[in-house]
Amino acid sequence: MFFEEGLQAAAYIVAAILFILSLGGLKDQETAKRSIWYGIVGMALAVVATVFGPGVQNLFVLLIAIAIGAGLGIYIAGQVQMTEMPQLVAALHSFVGLAAVFIGINAELMLGSVLAMKEAGTSLTEVDLTGFGETLWNKTAAEITILRVESFIGIFIGAVTFTGSIVAFGKLSGKIDGKPSQLPGGHMLNAAAAVLCIVLGILYFGGAGIWTVLLMALVAGFIGYHLINGIGGADMPVVVSMLNSYSGWAAAAIGFTLSNDLLIVTGALVGSSGAILSYIMCKGMNRSFISVILGGWGGQTQSSGQEIEGEQTPIKADEVADLLEEADSVVIAPGYGMAVAQAQQAISELTTKLKEKGKTVRFAIHPVAGRMPGHMNVLLAEAKVPYDLVLELEEINEDFPETDVVIVIGANDIVNPAANDDPGSPIAGMPVLHVWEARHVIVSKRGQGTGYSGIENPLFFKDNTRMYYGDAKESVNALLQKL
Ligand code: NDP
Repeated sequence: MFFEEGLQAAAYIVAAILFILSLGGLKDQETAKRSIWYGIVGMALAVVATVFGPGVQNLFVLLIAIAIGAGLGIYIAGQVQMTEMPQLVAALHSFVGLAAVFIGINAELMLGSVLAMKEAGTSLTEVDLTGFGETLWNKTAAEITILRVESFIGIFIGAVTFTGSIVAFGKLSGKIDGKPSQLPGGHMLNAAAAVLCIVLGILYFGGAGIWTVLLMALVAGFIGYHLINGIGGADMPVVVSMLNSYSGWAAAAIGFTLSNDLLIVTGALVGSSGAILSYIMCKGMNRSFISVILGGWGGQTQSSGQEIEGEQTPIKADEVADLLEEADSVVIAPGYGMAVAQAQQAISELTTKLKEKGKTVRFAIHPVAGRMPGHMNVLLAEAKVPYDLVLELEEINEDFPETDVVIVIGANDIVNPAANDDPGSPIAGMPVLHVWEARHVIVSKRGQGTGYSGIENPLFFKDNTRMYYGDAKESVNALLQKL
């Protein structure tokens, strides 16, 4: 044991500070890279201080488990495409949930045997108890009740997170049907299951056996499955962020059970940041959190009530090049299609070329462009687009009337004027980029496919809009040839 108790506590404090710095730095692209390192160093320190700290029963087994886990993690992360990130995150949350369930049940079982030993009149010197067992032995009756409540809550949230995350993973990866589906009784069934969990808790605290906890874990697992299965596949990114929050609270509850301060701090950080992220995403889509949780919009493919007149007018690469040659100011509005086409590198080259020709080029980023928060920022940063060209919706929305050409790359819902003009539209009220106010709008997309919400977009039929059909990467490359 290299980390005595005091040193371990100090290492935990440093790790907690690094985690806070890491989260704080992620708000800005310029500091994001550094903040990832804060996170990595903090986590490495936390793991080392735990593994080589007091209370570890079998270091060898622990190191083997860490090696297997790390190997699998590196392998899986290496395989995953950027567009598959949400399902990877969902899969990882399910592990956090399952770990919380296992740790909670283990704590309950250990507590049961420690109490049985005490009841049999055994003294601490007769039993070989170290670490957590010894902590349990020394707890007062009141502390034991608190511990039981904490682990009961931890197991409940953990089980909901576990099954919910598995369903979210299945829906996002297309392995489970993305349509919302519920058993007869719908949300009432979830409410009844939650009441059953409370009853089981009351029985458990009243002295009933561990079976009540195990049954509660099963019922909570059902709640996670049924709740998330009732939500459309398209709402899954918000759900994943919400499950992220749950996994944090489960970890915090387990941190209380194990009296592990770092787990409490880390769990609370994950829990609250996940909740804030869910809120930001809901706000970006103008949807209430409750309406996402209760299902609805996601997975539907209804069309808006608004009839769209006119036709979509196509445009060729050389005509787009001519428009750009004449323009002074250009704004690029990327969306999910840019991620699908992996067009960011070509777009970065287009930006350089236009800037060399003396044009003002900026990017307009909608808060929910793509399929996860910050999706576009990450792709553009990867393609080395300078940060100062990348503006948020509220920073650029007023500039469109003074813009000569807007190039919409694989975006649809985030540039749909129906959000403003059609109160019956499923995206009514969602903040959108007012690209149609620019002099010319070029939309690069493959065909007449709808966006995430499944509705038609009047922008494509406007007089100042031209449709530049084709895969975004190929289209931008063709344009680069002409410029
Ligand atoms: P959309 O899904 O609305 O539209 C993407 C468009 O890209 C499609 O219309 C498609 O048209 C086009 N496209 C697809 N592949 C290609 C390709 N290879 N080349 C060119 N175009 C392509 O995306 P937006 O980014 O505009 O909007 C995001 C949506 O996702 C919003 O509705 C938002 O609410 C939702 N959402 C976002 C979350 C987030 O956190 N970012 C979370 C949850 C939901 P075509 O098939 O014709 O090519």
